[in-house]
Amino acid sequence: MVDSMLDDLSTLHDQPAWRVPDPAAMERIDDEPLPRAGQGEQATFAQFLSDVAPYRMGNIHPRFFGWVQGNGIPLGALADMIASGLNPHLAGFNQAPRHVEFKVLDWLKQLLGYPASASGILLSGGSMANLTGLAVARQAKAGYDVRAKGLQSVEQKLRVYCSDETHNWSRKAMELLGFGSENLVSVALDGNGRLDPARLAEAIQSDKAAGYRPICILATAGTVNTGAVDDLHALADIAAAENLWLHVDGAFGALAAVSPKTKHLVKGLERADSIAFDLHKWMYLPYEIACLLVKDGDAHRATFATTAAYLAVTDRGAIAGGLPFSELGFELTRSFKALKAWMCLKAYGADAFGDAIARNVEQASFLATLVEESPLLERVAPVHMNIVCFRFIGARSDELDAINEEILLRLQEKGIAVPSTTVVDGKLVIRACIVNYRTTDEDLRMLRDSVVLLGQEIVSERQSTLATL
Ligand SMILES: *Cc1c(COP(=O)(O)O)cnc(C)c1O
Repeated sequence: MVDSMLDDLSTLHDQPAWRVPDPAAMERIDDEPLPRAGQGEQATFAQFLSDVAPYRMGNIHPRFFGWVQGNGIPLGALADMIASGLNPHLAGFNQAPRHVEFKVLDWLKQLLGYPASASGILLSGGSMANLTGLAVARQAKAGYDVRAKGLQSVEQKLRVYCSDETHNWSRKAMELLGFGSENLVSVALDGNGRLDPARLAEAIQSDKAAGYRPICILATAGTVNTGAVDDLHALADIAAAENLWLHVDGAFGALAAVSPKTKHLVKGLERADSIAFDLHKWMYLPYEIACLLVKDGDAHRATFATTAAYLAVTDRGAIAGGLPFSELGFELTRSFKALKAWMCLKAYGADAFGDAIARNVEQASFLATLVEESPLLERVAPVHMNIVCFRFIGARSDELDAINEEILLRLQEKGIAVPSTTVVDGKLVIRACIVNYRTTDEDLRMLRDSVVLLGQEIVSERQSTLATL
């Protein structure tokens, strides 16, 4: 299994970026009854190779640029395997893996320029890390014992502020934490994809005048659509003046802080009360691993700490030191996801990660230049970081949305590359997000050239269809 995995990873460039799942293979998976008797390890692995592996998402491929999906360092995959072999319980306990997780958190604080006194926890993904951060904000700023009383005992409504570009975890989290999504106030953008601080200040004042209690600002460092970074200094000033919690969703963007070359893109990040970010996006580790850092460790612990007789801590033995991670998040049983981060940082060094991140940012500028060079393409949004939004423009303007969508689908179905689409200024655009250490400049050239060729092909097909009418 290890050999087959490593062989596959070493030949990715020669494989299609994505394959349409074979209906026969999907049927073999979908229609199989519960196996009462075992089929054996060999036969089971053989079916994995024939029916599962070829029809994967494709996000490990060098020309996968869709949404914000990670790729995964092979050493990280092997670390996950040996972590599963050890299978330790990471609520805490008196064991070396607990030290490894604390060490990883320590290093991550340093990489993001966050104080060593901050607390943190590794979580499954950005959504969980953001949800956990918002739970801490709720606890710290509600102004009463929200853990005991919940949100049903008070008349005054708590309000949270975000921008029109905030990721939709925010809505789910507002609902789940009991705020209700109508108390998530979405503030308009400043014309550059960022939350407008002046409009935010107005929204807070008018909410206060109407009797609401503002408690938290959700800033974004790296929006999904265009990679824009909110003005974190301006938002931190407002948070300080109004006694609000400043939480930063830096799912991928916060990692720009890792390289001295790109650090300026997320200036002010260190002023956040909490930061959520993924290590399975722009730190190139396999799914799942993300991190929440909280500047005030007491507030973090106060959100989740509980006691139970069956978890009594002793001075010596296997539960000495207690269960610190169960006091910093909702989960009790947790996997040893820290191992892949620890091994990859040690094996390759933090600077290698910074270099790869800086290279992805350069590659986004390079792709933007390739787009601008072509008279048949147009760049549609500024390139803030590692995301390029562009489209084919070699046709009548009322046809462009349909043509660009068709270009995207053909790129994917032919296995050439997998960008995704979004809508910018009312236009459907092709969106390439580069968080992939396997991507080369040649891959970006191929993406550009293929978009142009497919666009021309689709235009000429449409013209010949018209001619036959
Ligand atoms: C990906 C992403 C999330 C969600 O993170 P998951 O790891 O997918 O749960 C949240 N915010 C932003 C900006 C993202 O890019």
